[in-house]
Parts: sequence; structure tokens; C-alpha cells
Amino acid sequence: MKLQRVLQYAQYLLSSSIEKGEIAVDATAGNGHDTLFLAQLVGETGHVYSFDVQQLAVDTTIKRLTEHGVLDRADVILDGHQHISKYIHNEIAGAIFNLGYLPGSDHQVVTKGNTTIQAIEQLLNLLKIGGIIVLVVYHGHEGGKAERDEIMNFVSSLPQKYVHVLRYEFINQRNDPPFVIALEKVKEFPKQ
Ligand code: SAM
Repeated sequence: MKLQRVLQYAQYLLSSSIEKGEIAVDATAGNGHDTLFLAQLVGETGHVYSFDVQQLAVDTTIKRLTEHGVLDRADVILDGHQHISKYIHNEIAGAIFNLGYLPGSDHQVVTKGNTTIQAIEQLLNLLKIGGIIVLVVYHGHEGGKAERDEIMNFVSSLPQKYVHVLRYEFINQRNDPPFVIALEKVKEFPKQ
């Protein structure tokens, strides 16, 4: 297959914007796959902040990082991503969200449109010029379509002078396939 799959494309975007020594954010740690990927991208001199509201996700992510010998490159934080700016005060190079629920866990704990949007707003302020925020949007579960629509409304209205917004998706797949939204910051927002 020549066209990149959605998760492959998400990783390609992150690797194009994050360099060794920089700071990256995993806004939805889950089983820790993306946190590990980011820890490898930022290298020994960089750092990853990873957030999840479930203790199970935090524990699984810490275990994965430990197994790969990169735990010292990350803070895995048991808190919602809507509180990101409490924890991060420096410039970040990129961020990823995998929306929806933790696979193999409680399907009641899902990401929500309003808190996802609050997190995107905070990340956009911290993001370097040329940095990318990637969202992998799963919308097949209960509440998924409402979250998708809220997020699409928000990102579609971001001013193109400051942020370029892309949607990448396969349009002939069945069963609500996930798609990618990518935001690239191209200019600093005016100070309020
Ligand atoms: N990226 C993960 C991986 O590699 O396995 C999968 C993430 S999973 C689809 C979504 C995660 O978001 C769940 O673990 C869930 O607990 C978490 N979540 C839900 N609401 C959240 C919030 N407000 N802040 C941070 N994480 C949240």
C-alpha cells in the first residue's frame, strides 16, 4: 500500500516537526505507544510530558518506557490534558492526541470535545513555529461524533495566518475509520 495509513501518517508528521533535545507532549497516554515514540524522537536530551486521567494508563505507559530504558525522558502525569499549562512552561515542538477510549479498558472514560479544545488552545500557545499538533480522531463510539463535530468546528475556524489545518482520511472505508487532523503553527499569535 502506497498511501500511508492514518497512524503511520501521524508518526510521520511528528517526526517531521520534533528534533532531538526538544519537548513533546502526548495528550492521551493510553497504553504508552505514542509516549514511547516521542521519547525516542526527543532523544536523551529532550523531554516528553504525557497525560492521562486513568491510573491504569499511567502505569502501563511507565512500564513501557521502563522496558525500553527511556523512563528518564518523560513525565507521565495523572491529570487531564486540559491542565497542560499547569505543568509545561517551555516551548514544545509537537503533540499528539489519540481520541476516544483506552483499548481493552473502561469505554466510559473517553476524551471530550470541550476539554480536548482547551488542551489544543494551550498547546498552540506553547508550540514553536513549524511545530505540529496531531489528533487521531476515532468517532465510532458513543459520544465520538459529538466530539468530532465540536473539534472540527473549532479547528476549521482557526485563522490561517497563524495555523495551517489539515484533515487526512480514507473516504471509502466502512465503520467510521479514524482520521488525522494536523495543526501547524506558522506565526506567533498576537499577545492578548
Ligand atoms: N495513545 C494511546 C496509546 O498509544 O495506546 C491511546 C490513547 S486512548 C485512544 C485515549 C486515552 O485518553 C485513554 O487512555 C483515556 O483515559 C484518555 N483520556 C480521556 N480523557 C482525557 C483527558 N481529559 N486528558 C488526558 N487523557 C484523557
